Amino acid sequence: MGKKMKEKFTIEDLLILDAGAEGVCIGKYEERVVFVNNVVPGDVVDVEVYKKKHHYYMARLLQLKVPSEKRVEPKCEHFGICGGCKWQNMDYQAQLFYKQKQVQDHFERIGKFSFPPLKPILPSDNIFQYRNKIEYTFSNRRWLSNEEMEHADELNLNGLGFHLPGVFDKVLDINHCDLHSEIGNQIRNSLREFALKNSISFYNIRTHEGLLRNVVIRNSVCGDLMVIVVFAYKDKFLEMVMNFLRVTFPQITSLMYVVNDKMNDSIADLEVHTFFGNDFMTEQMEDLQFHVAPQAFYQTNASQALKLYQTVRTFANIQPEDIVYDLYTGTGTIALFVARLAKKVVAVEYVDSAVENAKENAILNHIDNAVFYVGDMAKVFTDDFIAKNGKPDILIADPPRNGMHPDVVAQILKIMPKRIVYVSCNPATQARDIALLSSAYQVIATQPVDMFPHTQHVENVCMLEKL
Ligand code: SAH
Repeated sequence: MGKKMKEKFTIEDLLILDAGAEGVCIGKYEERVVFVNNVVPGDVVDVEVYKKKHHYYMARLLQLKVPSEKRVEPKCEHFGICGGCKWQNMDYQAQLFYKQKQVQDHFERIGKFSFPPLKPILPSDNIFQYRNKIEYTFSNRRWLSNEEMEHADELNLNGLGFHLPGVFDKVLDINHCDLHSEIGNQIRNSLREFALKNSISFYNIRTHEGLLRNVVIRNSVCGDLMVIVVFAYKDKFLEMVMNFLRVTFPQITSLMYVVNDKMNDSIADLEVHTFFGNDFMTEQMEDLQFHVAPQAFYQTNASQALKLYQTVRTFANIQPEDIVYDLYTGTGTIALFVARLAKKVVAVEYVDSAVENAKENAILNHIDNAVFYVGDMAKVFTDDFIAKNGKPDILIADPPRNGMHPDVVAQILKIMPKRIVYVSCNPATQARDIALLSSAYQVIATQPVDMFPHTQHVENVCMLEKL
């Protein structure tokens, strides 16, 4: 095993042992961890090491010697290049196993608190076409394969697809994305074809030239279909593109556009113009309806979001006299989902427009016991805030990947709600925060949920009770 080369060297017959948190698989060689992409635990492979660090090697697959029993044929033609579905070559049951293990490993590694056995991860009902929102980028410098590189000067370099991980200016032209609806795929491909046929320019993120920048396609469980086209400037072609979509896809219920002349792709702070149809999409969960504005966040796997929220509601076990806090509420969906069980819900979120959406949805659903505040958690969650809103009996928190700010954890320990339901998309920071809470709380139940099949991402809900 292991022939040394100058800098790069090969390792032969490496057994892949595990799938890591970033979706990268892991083997071991000479006491070092070897990270390899596009392999599956159980594979025996030859790899080329291209980076050597003190504790680990980074390697690329050269040859698959013995395929793992966990291997499946990836469905997607773009697998291996597009960074979106790192685990599409792994059987779904194995994906679930490694997500569960990820949570278990993080909780054990932190080691500062005891926890009962994790409940088995809730699988996703759909493992394809589960995303209700996809954003594609136009580029006049699409990514080219080695083969294409050889005759690049004969090719049309315009593309519409996904940013490649780690190369900000390269976009992979997508012909079909299996995570999205068929209609979404049709819209993307027809739009590209129309633009190419009419010589409408694709954007260049380095020179900031070109008209077409992005297209966002969203659909809802109620059958709504929202399409937002982002242009770099106003132009005669704008109307032509929008009319083309309107005529070709009568299923579109909200057809919108944005003019983005900024350096970055974010449209969060820009005006959205409704070209045709409604200026929102309607989502439904149980008997609740939510109007979702074009820039507003809504959980991307809607049927799994329902399972996630039902778990939160069961874990929270709210009684009619309880004051419930929902921290990091987004568009207030969890707050509204549990509001009818509680005396009052107090929710906090720092995106202004999300809070506006939350307030409108409270009215839409005749919920009048939920209050929403805009602000940074660490700054809002003060003694005065608690004095004003009442001490929470139950606290729900669903922070972003970096977890809760230490001041937020400190404040929770000061006010001591009887129960905490902690929803997280990153078990590493969740375990860190729970370790901080473990002086006063114990973990009673843990439920991982799979929201994103074929990716390494795992959502995890923990219920903690006061010791
Ligand atoms: N619970 C919501 C969304 C949670 S995502 C749902 O299920 O739809 C996490 C949310 O935390 C995002 O909406 C993000 O804008 C918000 N957020 C992130 N950092 C924050 C901070 N420091 N203060 C307040 N809100 C924050």
